[in-house]
Amino acid sequence: MSLHCWSSTRYAITLPEGHRFPMSKYSLLREGALSQRLVAPERLHEPSRVAHADLHRVHTTDYVDGVEHGTLDPAHQRRIGLPWSEPFVERAFRVVQGTIEASDHAVTHGIAMNFAGGTHHAFPDRGEGFCVFNDVAIAIRRLQSQQRIRRACIIDLDVHQGNGTNAVFAGDDSVYTFNMHGAKNFPFHKVASSRDEELDDGTGDDEYLTRLESALPEVVRAARADLVVYLAGADPHEGDRLGRLKLTFDGLARRDELVLRTCRETGTPVCVTIAGGYGRDITDTVRVHLQTVAAAARFGE
Ligand SMILES: [Zn+2]
Repeated sequence: MSLHCWSSTRYAITLPEGHRFPMSKYSLLREGALSQRLVAPERLHEPSRVAHADLHRVHTTDYVDGVEHGTLDPAHQRRIGLPWSEPFVERAFRVVQGTIEASDHAVTHGIAMNFAGGTHHAFPDRGEGFCVFNDVAIAIRRLQSQQRIRRACIIDLDVHQGNGTNAVFAGDDSVYTFNMHGAKNFPFHKVASSRDEELDDGTGDDEYLTRLESALPEVVRAARADLVVYLAGADPHEGDRLGRLKLTFDGLARRDELVLRTCRETGTPVCVTIAGGYGRDITDTVRVHLQTVAAAARFGE
């Protein structure tokens, strides 16, 4: 059990009845990882609060101020999809720091995981789709500025395209962005990544894994990365309310294996974030995320 993980569950947002954001999955994931002994308690860390200087590596001052003080205009807050509150702010700050600390650990020790993050719909001046700040972009910019890495590769396998992340790194050859996502799913205005694999609604294990397996070697070759950040979204699962794909638990476990084996074979450190997951039964989503934790734990052995 050498895997180190970051998890912040102290700042749960209180949501109205019937809200689509699955707040409970974060504490269920934490409890499951501990009870299945995938991570040792002393290796499960509480992230601190991200520094403003780090947020500003990617986000505009106006946007950070608006989030922090609850002064975004109501339409903008609605686009984020979560109501403003003090826990909303605190949680947004801690999620980013979780990915900063996990990526920092990964560069030194080979792998680490944030039990949150992958908030890839956040743009420099706005958020949407339950994403406030772009944790992955901030963590990469920070490691680059410290000269701990030169090049990074983002493997984004959330079912929704990482439009915000792709916008941040557009025209930046030092960060390779790979997205495999539902062609007809949110976001409806996509932003091109370095390589997009678009999937039809209803895509199942076989086609998904065949396309992933053929793309990954080319992705890592082109990326020449010092760090991979993997967005292991649970929303391609067949039981997801928002995913529209038909991947099984076994298919998603094989997906994680393919990504992590590729990183291992190329000797590339990897930081894992969980990204989305909106199961009709939320325990299905948690089970997919726990498979990812298990794969990451095996990687570290
Ligand atoms: Zn998603």
